[in-house]
Amino acid sequence: MRIETDIKLGFKDVLIRPKRSTLKSRADVSLEREFRFLNSGKSWKGVPIMAANMDTVGTFEMAKKLSAYQAFTVIHKHYSLNDWQAFLKEIQEEQLEYVSVSTGTNEADAAKLDKILSLHKGLKFICIDVANGYSEHFVTFVKKVRERHPEHVLMAGNVVTGEMVEELLLAGADMVKVGIGPGSVCTTRVKTGVGYPQLSAIIECADAAHGLGGQIISDGGCSVPGDVAKAFGGGADFVMMGGMFAGHDESGGELIEREGKKYKIFYGMSSDTAMDKYAGGVAEYRASEGKTVEVPYRGPVNDSLQDILGGLRSACTYVGASRLKELTKRTTFIRVQEQHNLVFEK
Ligand code: 5GP
Repeated sequence: MRIETDIKLGFKDVLIRPKRSTLKSRADVSLEREFRFLNSGKSWKGVPIMAANMDTVGTFEMAKKLSAYQAFTVIHKHYSLNDWQAFLKEIQEEQLEYVSVSTGTNEADAAKLDKILSLHKGLKFICIDVANGYSEHFVTFVKKVRERHPEHVLMAGNVVTGEMVEELLLAGADMVKVGIGPGSVCTTRVKTGVGYPQLSAIIECADAAHGLGGQIISDGGCSVPGDVAKAFGGGADFVMMGGMFAGHDESGGELIEREGKKYKIFYGMSSDTAMDKYAGGVAEYRASEGKTVEVPYRGPVNDSLQDILGGLRSACTYVGASRLKELTKRTTFIRVQEQHNLVFEK
């Protein structure tokens, strides 16, 4: 056993210090970023916000909406080939720039991935997603997908430490998804005691990835737009969200009504609910590592997205970053013990 005594920080432990700026208004800030990916050599331009590949978030409906803002949707892996065919008929090529297919790592997943990709040459992105990206099997799978799809942009995760980011980039990933345990409907930390405070994970993993010319996606743990700004400030190239995109018309999940109030069901992809739906229940050897919650219904996703983008533009203005790309260079985090005033919160 060993103890690491360096302090590791989450979003709640810091604020971003304001800096002198020549920017007049948040309208002067550009949130567009351009990347050239390490292994596929492909380029991408857009707003690097991502809806998570959960079936109550990363839906076709979400992709149609977010792509209009050049924001990204990683589609969950439970749609059938027929569902994909229907979606691909409705969507324009240029919208596919903001859409990724996702896959797990078993043989059936791999076979389905090939079939989906063969439906349309505009499907450029693949997200290989497992709860624990530290297994050798996962690295081997990433290598195989890279060999089979040399020109696709590969995201792989999740991990939280620099050495594993490097290993995945060397195995063929273009971007590495970072986050173990911070999610709004995740219970991994409670069930297993394993995890890493998200802001430190971002800072350390971004450093490792950028050293090799790769990118990272901060995945999970953002509960307010300020957290998204902190994630970018820490060095994230993309920020993925589940809970902040849940509860909308475009989010999957059942709409229910109780005592005159509307809610949408939102659950973790390792929750009892998801496992009952897709895996015939929770296998005996494992524990559910996700929650099922009722999110107050929030209407169309546009307003929530604009709230996030507005917050991000404002954060850039406070530190004098005219482009999102500059935010991390201009960020100084200060450690704090209080965040916001709770007088009017119940
Ligand atoms: P959020 O933005 O809601 O805080 O986090 C979303 C992320 O939580 C997802 O992208 C995914 O990485 C993670 N996640 C989703 N479902 C589960 C689950 O059932 N268990 C765990 N441990 N993580 C989950």
